[in-house]
Amino acid sequence: MLPHKDLFDIPDGVIYLDGNSLGPLPKGVLERTVKVLTEEWGGELIRAWNSADWMSLSQRVGDRIGRLIGAPAGSVITGDTLSIKVYQALAAALKMRPDRRVILSDNRNFPTDLYMAEGLIETIDKGYELRTPAPEDVLDAITEEVAAVMLTQVDYRSGRMHDLQAITKAAHDAGAVMIWDLAHSAGAIPLDMAASNAEFAVGCTYKYLNGGPGAPAFIYTRPDIIETVAPALAGWMGHQEPFAMEPGYRPAMSIERLRVGTPPIVQLSMLDAALDVWDGADLADLREASIALSEAFIAGVEKHCPGLTLVSPRDPQRRGSQVSFAFEHGYAAMQALIDRGVIGDFRAPDIMRFGFTPLYLDKGDVMAAVEVMSEVINDDLWDDPKYQTRQKVT
Ligand SMILES: *Cc1c(COP(=O)(O)O)cnc(C)c1O
Repeated sequence: MLPHKDLFDIPDGVIYLDGNSLGPLPKGVLERTVKVLTEEWGGELIRAWNSADWMSLSQRVGDRIGRLIGAPAGSVITGDTLSIKVYQALAAALKMRPDRRVILSDNRNFPTDLYMAEGLIETIDKGYELRTPAPEDVLDAITEEVAAVMLTQVDYRSGRMHDLQAITKAAHDAGAVMIWDLAHSAGAIPLDMAASNAEFAVGCTYKYLNGGPGAPAFIYTRPDIIETVAPALAGWMGHQEPFAMEPGYRPAMSIERLRVGTPPIVQLSMLDAALDVWDGADLADLREASIALSEAFIAGVEKHCPGLTLVSPRDPQRRGSQVSFAFEHGYAAMQALIDRGVIGDFRAPDIMRFGFTPLYLDKGDVMAAVEVMSEVINDDLWDDPKYQTRQKVT
Protein backbone atom coordinates (compact mmCIF):
# COMPACT_ATOMS: atom_id res chain seq x y z
CA MET A 1 0.00 0.00 0.00
CA LEU A 2 1.17 3.53 -0.74
CA PRO A 3 0.28 6.76 1.04
CA HIS A 4 -1.62 9.25 -1.04
CA LYS A 5 -1.12 12.81 -2.28
CA ASP A 6 -4.15 13.91 -0.30
CA LEU A 7 -2.14 13.51 2.89
CA PHE A 8 -0.02 16.52 1.95
CA ASP A 9 -0.54 20.25 1.62
CA ILE A 10 1.25 21.14 -1.60
CA PRO A 11 0.53 24.52 -3.22
CA ASP A 12 -1.46 24.48 -6.46
CA GLY A 13 0.68 24.68 -9.55
CA VAL A 14 3.74 23.18 -7.86
CA ILE A 15 5.42 19.95 -8.90
CA TYR A 16 7.64 19.22 -5.96
CA LEU A 17 10.82 17.37 -6.87
CA ASP A 18 12.72 18.40 -3.77
CA GLY A 19 11.45 16.13 -1.00
CA ASN A 20 15.01 14.88 -0.76
CA SER A 21 16.04 18.26 0.69
CA LEU A 22 12.91 19.31 2.53
CA GLY A 23 9.80 17.16 2.44
CA PRO A 24 6.45 18.96 2.06
CA LEU A 25 3.95 19.58 4.84
CA PRO A 26 1.77 16.60 5.75
CA LYS A 27 -1.79 17.67 6.58
CA GLY A 28 -1.99 16.49 10.19
CA VAL A 29 1.07 18.46 11.26
CA LEU A 30 -0.60 21.84 11.63
CA GLU A 31 -3.36 20.54 13.89
CA ARG A 32 -0.87 18.67 16.07
CA THR A 33 1.39 21.72 16.34
CA VAL A 34 -1.49 23.93 17.40
CA LYS A 35 -2.42 21.35 20.02
CA VAL A 36 1.13 21.18 21.37
CA LEU A 37 1.34 24.95 21.57
CA THR A 38 -2.07 25.67 23.00
CA GLU A 39 -3.12 22.64 25.06
CA GLU A 40 0.23 21.22 26.08
CA TRP A 41 2.59 24.18 26.44
CA GLY A 42 -0.07 26.85 26.88
CA GLY A 43 -2.44 24.86 29.08
CA GLU A 44 -0.31 22.35 30.90
CA LEU A 45 2.88 24.41 31.18
CA ILE A 46 5.67 22.50 32.96
CA ARG A 47 3.21 19.70 33.83
CA ALA A 48 3.21 18.65 30.17
CA TRP A 49 6.56 16.87 30.56
CA ASN A 50 4.53 14.25 32.43
CA SER A 51 0.90 14.83 31.43
CA ALA A 52 1.65 14.96 27.69
CA ASP A 53 4.58 12.56 28.11
CA TRP A 54 7.07 14.91 26.48
CA MET A 55 9.83 13.06 28.30
CA SER A 56 9.44 9.85 26.29
CA LEU A 57 8.68 11.51 22.93
CA SER A 58 12.31 11.17 21.69
CA GLN A 59 12.09 7.43 22.08
CA ARG A 60 8.51 6.96 20.89
CA VAL A 61 9.30 8.82 17.68
CA GLY A 62 12.57 6.85 17.46
CA ASP A 63 10.61 3.60 17.48
CA ARG A 64 8.38 4.83 14.66
CA ILE A 65 11.46 5.61 12.56
CA GLY A 66 12.89 2.25 13.59
CA ARG A 67 10.05 0.53 11.78
CA LEU A 68 11.00 2.37 8.56
CA ILE A 69 14.68 1.42 8.75
CA GLY A 70 14.28 -2.16 9.95
CA ALA A 71 15.43 -1.51 13.51
CA PRO A 72 13.86 -3.17 16.55
CA ALA A 73 11.98 -1.16 19.20
CA GLY A 74 14.33 0.49 21.67
CA SER A 75 17.25 0.83 19.26
CA VAL A 76 16.57 4.30 17.78
CA ILE A 77 16.44 7.66 19.53
CA THR A 78 15.68 11.10 18.07
CA GLY A 79 17.06 14.52 18.93
CA ASP A 80 19.75 17.04 18.02
CA THR A 81 20.83 17.40 14.41
CA LEU A 82 22.41 14.90 12.09
CA SER A 83 25.82 16.54 12.42
CA ILE A 84 25.72 15.88 16.17
CA LYS A 85 24.56 12.29 15.68
CA VAL A 86 27.42 11.66 13.24
CA TYR A 87 29.83 12.93 15.89
CA GLN A 88 28.30 10.74 18.60
CA ALA A 89 28.36 7.59 16.49
CA LEU A 90 31.91 8.17 15.35
CA ALA A 91 33.22 8.98 18.83
CA ALA A 92 31.56 5.84 20.21
CA ALA A 93 32.93 3.73 17.35
CA LEU A 94 36.52 4.91 17.93
CA LYS A 95 36.27 3.99 21.62
CA MET A 96 35.28 0.48 20.56
CA ARG A 97 38.57 0.02 18.64
CA PRO A 98 41.16 1.75 20.86
CA ASP A 99 44.15 0.22 19.06
CA ARG A 100 43.27 1.59 15.63
CA ARG A 101 43.72 5.12 14.28
CA VAL A 102 41.99 5.31 10.88
CA ILE A 103 38.51 6.57 10.01
CA LEU A 104 37.48 5.55 6.51
CA SER A 105 34.90 7.53 4.55
CA ASP A 106 34.76 8.60 0.89
CA ASN A 107 35.52 11.80 -0.97
CA ARG A 108 31.90 12.28 -2.10
CA ASN A 109 30.44 12.16 1.40
CA PHE A 110 28.31 15.08 2.53
CA PRO A 111 30.64 17.84 3.80
CA THR A 112 29.32 17.98 7.37
CA ASP A 113 30.03 14.26 7.92
CA LEU A 114 33.67 14.82 6.95
CA TYR A 115 33.93 18.09 8.91
CA MET A 116 32.60 16.40 12.06
CA ALA A 117 35.19 13.63 11.65
CA GLU A 118 37.99 16.21 11.25
CA GLY A 119 36.77 18.10 14.30
CA LEU A 120 36.57 14.94 16.39
CA ILE A 121 40.10 13.97 15.33
CA GLU A 122 41.38 17.37 16.48
CA THR A 123 39.54 17.16 19.77
CA ILE A 124 40.84 13.67 20.60
CA ASP A 125 44.34 14.68 19.41
CA LYS A 126 45.75 11.16 19.40
CA GLY A 127 46.95 10.88 15.83
CA TYR A 128 43.75 9.76 14.11
CA GLU A 129 43.61 9.96 10.34
CA LEU A 130 40.60 10.44 8.05
CA ARG A 131 40.92 8.60 4.73
CA THR A 132 38.61 9.56 1.87
CA PRO A 133 39.12 7.42 -1.23
CA ALA A 134 36.74 7.63 -4.19
CA PRO A 135 33.49 5.78 -3.43
CA GLU A 136 34.33 2.93 -5.80
CA ASP A 137 37.64 2.38 -3.97
CA VAL A 138 36.15 2.11 -0.48
CA LEU A 139 36.02 -1.69 -0.38
CA ASP A 140 39.72 -1.98 -1.19
CA ALA A 141 40.57 0.65 1.44
CA ILE A 142 39.04 -1.34 4.29
CA THR A 143 42.15 -2.66 6.03
CA GLU A 144 42.92 -3.80 9.54
CA GLU A 145 44.12 -0.27 10.38
CA VAL A 146 40.56 1.02 10.09
CA ALA A 147 38.70 1.64 13.34
CA ALA A 148 35.46 2.87 11.79
CA VAL A 149 33.96 2.96 8.31
CA MET A 150 31.61 5.92 8.07
CA LEU A 151 29.65 6.29 4.85
CA THR A 152 26.50 7.85 3.50
CA GLN A 153 24.54 5.17 1.70
CA VAL A 154 23.02 7.40 -0.99
CA ASP A 155 25.25 10.13 -2.48
CA TYR A 156 23.51 13.48 -2.11
CA ARG A 157 24.73 14.76 -5.47
CA SER A 158 24.31 11.84 -7.83
CA GLY A 159 22.06 9.41 -5.97
CA ARG A 160 24.71 6.68 -6.33
CA MET A 161 24.13 4.00 -3.72
CA HIS A 162 26.77 2.09 -1.78
CA ASP A 163 26.26 -1.64 -1.28
CA LEU A 164 25.29 -1.51 2.38
CA GLN A 165 25.48 -5.27 2.97
CA ALA A 166 28.78 -5.88 1.21
CA ILE A 167 30.57 -2.92 2.79
CA THR A 168 29.28 -3.71 6.27
CA LYS A 169 30.50 -7.27 5.90
CA ALA A 170 33.91 -6.16 4.65
CA ALA A 171 34.21 -3.70 7.55
CA HIS A 172 33.39 -6.44 10.03
CA ASP A 173 35.73 -8.94 8.36
CA ALA A 174 38.53 -6.40 8.88
CA GLY A 175 37.46 -5.81 12.49
CA ALA A 176 36.13 -2.28 11.92
CA VAL A 177 32.96 -0.68 13.25
CA MET A 178 30.35 0.33 10.63
CA ILE A 179 28.40 3.60 10.66
CA TRP A 180 25.82 4.34 7.98
CA ASP A 181 24.40 7.78 7.30
CA LEU A 182 20.85 7.23 6.03
CA ALA A 183 20.04 10.90 5.32
CA HIS A 184 18.94 10.15 1.75
CA SER A 185 17.75 6.61 2.46
CA ALA A 186 15.25 6.75 5.34
CA GLY A 187 11.76 6.96 3.89
CA ALA A 188 13.07 6.43 0.36
CA ILE A 189 14.26 2.84 0.17
CA PRO A 190 13.60 -0.35 2.13
CA LEU A 191 16.20 -0.84 4.86
CA ASP A 192 16.91 -3.59 7.32
CA MET A 193 19.43 -2.24 9.79
CA ALA A 194 19.05 -5.24 12.08
CA ALA A 195 19.93 -7.67 9.28
CA SER A 196 22.83 -5.49 8.12
CA ASN A 197 24.52 -6.02 11.48
CA ALA A 198 26.01 -2.50 11.29
CA GLU A 199 26.77 -1.01 14.70
CA PHE A 200 25.39 2.48 14.02
CA ALA A 201 23.13 4.35 11.66
CA VAL A 202 22.19 8.00 11.71
CA GLY A 203 19.90 10.17 9.62
CA CYS A 204 17.82 13.29 9.39
CA THR A 205 14.06 13.55 9.27
CA TYR A 206 13.37 16.69 7.23
CA LYS A 207 14.11 15.02 3.89
CA TYR A 208 12.01 11.99 2.86
CA LEU A 209 10.44 11.74 6.33
CA ASN A 210 8.81 15.17 5.97
CA GLY A 211 9.46 16.31 9.55
CA GLY A 212 9.83 19.98 8.61
CA PRO A 213 12.77 22.41 8.56
CA GLY A 214 15.10 21.75 11.48
CA ALA A 215 13.36 18.50 12.46
CA PRO A 216 15.48 16.40 14.86
CA ALA A 217 17.83 13.67 13.71
CA PHE A 218 17.93 10.00 14.71
CA ILE A 219 20.57 7.51 15.73
CA TYR A 220 20.33 3.71 15.69
CA THR A 221 22.62 1.49 17.72
CA ARG A 222 22.75 -2.29 17.38
CA PRO A 223 20.90 -3.66 20.41
CA ASP A 224 23.72 -5.88 21.71
CA ILE A 225 26.09 -2.92 22.15
CA ILE A 226 23.67 -0.29 23.46
CA GLU A 227 24.61 -0.84 27.09
CA THR A 228 28.31 -0.43 26.41
CA VAL A 229 28.59 2.40 23.85
CA ALA A 230 30.37 5.45 25.23
CA PRO A 231 28.21 8.56 24.84
CA ALA A 232 30.79 11.17 23.83
CA LEU A 233 28.35 13.99 24.52
CA ALA A 234 27.33 13.09 28.04
CA GLY A 235 24.31 15.35 28.44
CA TRP A 236 21.91 15.09 31.34
CA MET A 237 19.09 13.65 29.22
CA GLY A 238 21.27 10.60 28.58
CA HIS A 239 21.80 10.06 32.30
CA GLN A 240 20.20 7.05 33.97
CA GLU A 241 18.17 9.36 36.20
CA PRO A 242 18.27 12.92 34.90
CA PHE A 243 16.24 14.17 37.83
CA ALA A 244 18.49 12.62 40.43
CA MET A 245 20.62 15.66 39.52
CA GLU A 246 23.80 13.83 40.43
CA PRO A 247 27.11 15.62 40.02
CA GLY A 248 28.60 12.63 38.14
CA TYR A 249 27.44 11.07 34.88
CA ARG A 250 25.96 7.57 34.76
CA PRO A 251 24.70 6.69 31.27
CA ALA A 252 21.20 5.26 30.83
CA MET A 253 21.20 1.51 30.22
CA SER A 254 19.21 1.98 27.02
CA ILE A 255 19.34 3.88 23.73
CA GLU A 256 18.50 6.93 25.84
CA ARG A 257 22.20 7.26 26.65
CA LEU A 258 22.57 8.81 23.19
CA ARG A 259 20.26 11.66 24.11
CA VAL A 260 22.07 14.89 24.90
CA GLY A 261 19.94 17.81 26.12
CA THR A 262 16.31 18.90 26.19
CA PRO A 263 14.59 17.73 22.99
CA PRO A 264 12.84 20.20 20.67
CA ILE A 265 9.33 19.17 21.70
CA VAL A 266 7.46 21.24 19.12
CA GLN A 267 9.55 19.95 16.21
CA LEU A 268 9.48 16.45 17.59
CA SER A 269 5.69 16.57 17.79
CA MET A 270 5.54 17.84 14.22
CA LEU A 271 7.70 14.91 13.16
CA ASP A 272 5.52 12.50 15.12
CA ALA A 273 2.45 13.77 13.25
CA ALA A 274 4.31 13.69 9.91
CA LEU A 275 5.12 10.02 10.47
CA ASP A 276 1.39 9.18 10.40
CA VAL A 277 1.78 9.25 6.62
CA TRP A 278 3.69 5.98 6.88
CA ASP A 279 1.06 4.04 8.83
CA GLY A 280 0.53 0.88 6.84
CA ALA A 281 2.90 1.96 4.08
CA ASP A 282 5.05 -0.69 2.46
CA LEU A 283 8.58 0.45 1.66
CA ALA A 284 9.03 -2.19 -1.04
CA ASP A 285 5.94 -0.90 -2.90
CA LEU A 286 7.21 2.64 -2.43
CA ARG A 287 10.60 1.77 -3.88
CA GLU A 288 9.06 0.10 -6.90
CA ALA A 289 6.86 3.13 -7.59
CA SER A 290 9.73 5.54 -7.07
CA ILE A 291 11.89 3.66 -9.57
CA ALA A 292 9.08 3.83 -12.12
CA LEU A 293 8.90 7.61 -11.65
CA SER A 294 12.64 8.18 -11.93
CA GLU A 295 12.91 5.93 -14.99
CA ALA A 296 10.13 7.87 -16.69
CA PHE A 297 11.85 11.16 -15.84
CA ILE A 298 15.23 10.03 -17.18
CA ALA A 299 13.69 8.75 -20.41
CA GLY A 300 11.71 11.98 -20.88
CA VAL A 301 14.62 14.33 -20.17
CA GLU A 302 17.06 12.39 -22.34
CA LYS A 303 14.59 12.42 -25.21
CA HIS A 304 13.70 16.11 -24.99
CA CYS A 305 16.84 17.74 -23.53
CA PRO A 306 19.87 16.14 -25.17
CA GLY A 307 22.16 18.88 -23.79
CA LEU A 308 21.83 17.45 -20.29
CA THR A 309 24.04 14.63 -19.04
CA LEU A 310 22.76 12.03 -16.60
CA VAL A 311 25.15 11.82 -13.65
CA SER A 312 23.12 9.33 -11.62
CA PRO A 313 23.66 5.59 -12.09
CA ARG A 314 21.55 4.34 -14.97
CA ASP A 315 20.79 1.11 -13.13
CA PRO A 316 17.91 2.01 -10.78
CA GLN A 317 19.06 -0.62 -8.28
CA ARG A 318 22.26 1.35 -7.85
CA ARG A 319 20.62 4.71 -7.24
CA GLY A 320 18.54 6.12 -4.42
CA SER A 321 15.36 8.08 -4.96
CA GLN A 322 16.85 11.02 -6.82
CA VAL A 323 18.04 11.80 -10.33
CA SER A 324 20.74 14.32 -11.22
CA PHE A 325 21.69 15.85 -14.52
CA ALA A 326 24.76 17.96 -15.26
CA PHE A 327 24.14 21.10 -17.31
CA GLU A 328 26.56 23.99 -17.81
CA HIS A 329 23.86 26.54 -16.97
CA GLY A 330 22.33 24.37 -14.27
CA TYR A 331 21.87 27.11 -11.68
CA ALA A 332 20.00 29.45 -14.02
CA ALA A 333 18.00 26.57 -15.51
CA MET A 334 16.89 25.45 -12.03
CA GLN A 335 15.82 29.02 -11.21
CA ALA A 336 13.80 29.12 -14.42
CA LEU A 337 12.18 25.77 -13.56
CA ILE A 338 11.33 26.91 -10.04
CA ASP A 339 9.79 30.08 -11.50
CA ARG A 340 7.48 27.78 -13.47
CA GLY A 341 6.49 25.67 -10.47
CA VAL A 342 8.86 22.75 -10.98
CA ILE A 343 10.94 22.71 -7.82
CA GLY A 344 14.21 20.82 -7.64
CA ASP A 345 17.59 22.02 -6.49
CA PHE A 346 21.07 22.82 -7.69
CA ARG A 347 24.34 21.48 -6.34
CA ALA A 348 27.62 23.09 -7.33
CA PRO A 349 29.24 23.06 -9.77
CA ASP A 350 26.64 22.14 -12.40
CA ILE A 351 24.17 19.60 -11.03
CA MET A 352 20.40 19.83 -11.35
CA ARG A 353 18.99 17.46 -8.78
CA PHE A 354 15.47 16.04 -8.61
CA GLY A 355 13.97 13.91 -5.85
CA PHE A 356 11.18 11.44 -6.55
CA THR A 357 8.77 10.05 -4.10
CA PRO A 358 5.49 8.38 -4.96
CA LEU A 359 4.07 9.72 -1.67
CA TYR A 360 2.81 12.77 -3.54
CA LEU A 361 4.06 12.45 -7.14
CA ASP A 362 2.59 10.46 -9.99
CA LYS A 363 3.46 9.80 -13.59
CA GLY A 364 1.41 12.81 -14.73
CA ASP A 365 3.51 15.13 -12.54
CA VAL A 366 6.70 13.66 -13.94
CA MET A 367 5.55 14.11 -17.54
CA ALA A 368 4.47 17.69 -16.83
CA ALA A 369 7.86 18.41 -15.27
CA VAL A 370 9.64 17.03 -18.33
CA GLU A 371 7.57 19.29 -20.56
CA VAL A 372 8.47 22.41 -18.56
CA MET A 373 12.09 21.33 -18.53
CA SER A 374 12.09 20.88 -22.27
CA GLU A 375 10.82 24.45 -22.77
CA VAL A 376 13.35 25.91 -20.32
CA ILE A 377 16.28 24.17 -21.97
CA ASN A 378 15.31 24.18 -25.64
CA ASP A 379 13.97 27.74 -25.72
CA ASP A 380 16.89 28.99 -23.58
CA LEU A 381 14.42 30.37 -21.03
CA TRP A 382 17.18 30.12 -18.41
CA ASP A 383 19.15 32.79 -20.30
CA ASP A 384 17.59 35.70 -18.46
CA PRO A 385 19.54 37.99 -16.09
CA LYS A 386 17.04 37.37 -13.29
CA TYR A 387 18.05 33.71 -13.09
CA GLN A 388 21.78 34.32 -12.81
CA THR A 389 22.21 35.75 -9.30
CA ARG A 390 23.05 33.06 -6.77
CA GLN A 391 21.09 33.08 -3.55
CA LYS A 392 22.40 31.85 -0.22
CA VAL A 393 20.63 28.50 -0.41
CA THR A 394 20.74 26.74 -3.75
C1 LIG B 1 21.29 16.49 4.82
C2 LIG B 1 22.52 15.84 5.32
C3 LIG B 1 23.16 16.29 6.48
C4 LIG B 1 22.69 17.50 7.22
O1 LIG B 1 23.09 17.52 8.56
P1 LIG B 1 22.34 18.49 9.58
O2 LIG B 1 23.10 18.40 10.84
O3 LIG B 1 20.92 18.02 9.68
O4 LIG B 1 22.38 19.87 8.99
C5 LIG B 1 24.27 15.58 6.93
N1 LIG B 1 24.73 14.50 6.26
C6 LIG B 1 24.14 14.05 5.13
C7 LIG B 1 24.68 12.85 4.43
C8 LIG B 1 23.03 14.73 4.62
O5 LIG B 1 22.47 14.31 3.48
